[in-house]
Amino acid sequence: MDKILRCITTDGAVMVSAIDSSDIVHIAKKIHKTTPSATAALGRLLTGTSMMGAMLKQKDASINLRIAADGPLGVAIAVADSNGNVRGYVGNANCPTEHYSNGKINVAKAVGTDGVLNVMRDYGTGEPYIGQVPLVSGEIAEDITNYYATSEQIPTACALGVLIDKTDGEVLFAGGFLIQLLPGADDTIAQRIEENVKKLEPVTTMLANSMTPLDMAKKALDGFDVEVLDEYPIHYICTCSKEKIAGLIKNMGKEEISAMIKEDKGASAHCHFCNKTYNFSEEELEKMLGELS
Ligand SMILES: [Zn+2]
Repeated sequence: MDKILRCITTDGAVMVSAIDSSDIVHIAKKIHKTTPSATAALGRLLTGTSMMGAMLKQKDASINLRIAADGPLGVAIAVADSNGNVRGYVGNANCPTEHYSNGKINVAKAVGTDGVLNVMRDYGTGEPYIGQVPLVSGEIAEDITNYYATSEQIPTACALGVLIDKTDGEVLFAGGFLIQLLPGADDTIAQRIEENVKKLEPVTTMLANSMTPLDMAKKALDGFDVEVLDEYPIHYICTCSKEKIAGLIKNMGKEEISAMIKEDKGASAHCHFCNKTYNFSEEELEKMLGELS
């Protein structure tokens, strides 16, 4: 079962989130039938977005990360709630897969390097907060690190990993961590963290060695006293429902609905996040019309 953990050093200088998102990425792959490169890119984005969502303090808040660049993957989108539950999709699930010479999937090649990362935080109260940065690598973790550094002036280290079985394309492990220096952190602390991070093995190696999110966080904070703030399960959750889609159709107005009845003898809507299709019969549309008048 997937888990997210957040902890802080007892001196209040450093905050770490760590996550095992193996099931989430496995489910994303199953829903979207992604090729290995698309699985890796979407998996990393889901993993990072989940950690960023879990940092939102407001209960009904959500965060939306959108990468649009010049690679064959097309757009990549992930949305998380403030508990870190997450959903997402990519424009091209059939994106071809290329590898680096060390065997790792070339995610930057799939995503592209000329593009932007958009971050939208919705606190559920009017205007959302929107930030945008150009991509620096297309490998996603570096792009999230750069977003925090340039858009929010928070020194951050982010690692994201998705390990895929070379024979069948299935997800073996996925996870990540996000380390942030808080205002109380001085240069010495920054240096110690940097040295710790350099010594860390890749996330998927740590997970493959049965390390938990807590083990990973403790390793990142080696030499510091650590207090665990919270640790809980997280899931791939889509929030769509027939009622919500019906609400959207109603918002289109009487004329549109009448046209759907007359021309299409019904309506159908598709959810990109979970691949469900919702069908509305002529009778259901007639009923909506009645409710509108
Ligand atoms: Zn859905």
